[in-house]
Amino acid sequence: MDLYEYQGKELFRRFGIPVSEGRLATSPQEARVAAEELAGPVVVKAQVLTGGRGKAGGIKLADDATDAERKARDILGRDIRGHVVRKLWIEQASDIAKEYYLSVTFDRGAKKPLFMLTTEGGIEIEQVAEENPDALARLHIDPLEGFQPYQGRRLIYGARIDDPNEQKQILSIVEKLYRCFVECDAMLCEINPLIVTPAGEVRALDSKFTVDDSALFRHPEIAEMRDVEAADPQERFAREKGVTYVKLDGEVGILGNGAGLSMSTVDVVVVAGGRPSNFCDLGGGGDAQGVVDALEVITSDEQVRSIFFNIFGGITRCDEVARGVLTALEQMQIELPIVVRLDGTNADEGRKLLAEVAPPNLHVEPTMLEAAQRAVELAA
Ligand code: GDP
Ligand code: MN
Repeated sequence: MDLYEYQGKELFRRFGIPVSEGRLATSPQEARVAAEELAGPVVVKAQVLTGGRGKAGGIKLADDATDAERKARDILGRDIRGHVVRKLWIEQASDIAKEYYLSVTFDRGAKKPLFMLTTEGGIEIEQVAEENPDALARLHIDPLEGFQPYQGRRLIYGARIDDPNEQKQILSIVEKLYRCFVECDAMLCEINPLIVTPAGEVRALDSKFTVDDSALFRHPEIAEMRDVEAADPQERFAREKGVTYVKLDGEVGILGNGAGLSMSTVDVVVVAGGRPSNFCDLGGGGDAQGVVDALEVITSDEQVRSIFFNIFGGITRCDEVARGVLTALEQMQIELPIVVRLDGTNADEGRKLLAEVAPPNLHVEPTMLEAAQRAVELAA
């Protein structure tokens, strides 16, 4: 789950990482009030779940409250890379002497959290990694040992930060950011830019924060930060139903049992010349209610023209899944063509069941490729 800048900064603040004072606003009037309360120049920042807002005109400095109201009116409703701006973060403007970059993320290869620090902040880190790799200091943290201050010093020297006053503040920020990362079950905490003010104060000016979805049950207050309005309506519906679903752009609805098989199903539809309209994993079961929930989610997408139901019976038995499919189709009206491929444990029994009582819009195919081809044909 990705957090908005203002939410990430709120978590930073709780862990003692210095951030500027700010207020949330959803209208130009609220922006004016926020700027009045903050007194002095502010920065009006579009809150959207995408980066590069500055370049896209989503970040503007304002001299006073009237100016903030004007800038807010200009930014609200703007489309920033497909994200409509509905919320603004109004923050006390900072004077910037230097822009650094600091992040901690998960290095799956090394199976360790990885810190990255560079004095080349303010621009995208991929660009720094490509054009100036020596400027990027990296540090892995052993998750069992935890963070040790001497490691932080190595990171800071590696990035060639030589001002002792900055070193001290950044060391403390790195330490707090690690605690924040671990205790929030984050996948990414990125500060770009981490600024140094002319007075020598170091502060987080931006936040990019991703929390592991699987750990949200441990963090109800973070789970509550989810902005349901910003989510895709089908994905929102799926979450309510407890269905594992990712919306895609095509016409062939996909339902598989198990994440691996479902991903292969997405691929095989593409191989057959079609475009999947979703990824959907039925999980281990195959009971009627699970099938009904999944089909309801898939068919709520108006782009879907056919449905490809791909089942491999391992622990799950195909005859049970077939019964689940039939019960589900009795419970709900589906006019769309449905192609079923059943293989594995009790596949013959399953296919027989379907052949005996299946409605005319249900087609059974013996292999995954043939089923994909059929589903693509029927979607055309
Ligand atoms: P991003 O473009 O989505 O990464 O948004 P950021 O929050 O990183 O802001 C982009 C840029 O706007 C920063 O790199 C700064 O140069 C500038 N900026 C943001 N806040 C302030 C501020 O308080 N004062 C000044 N002078 N510039 C700011
Ligand atoms: Mn940024």
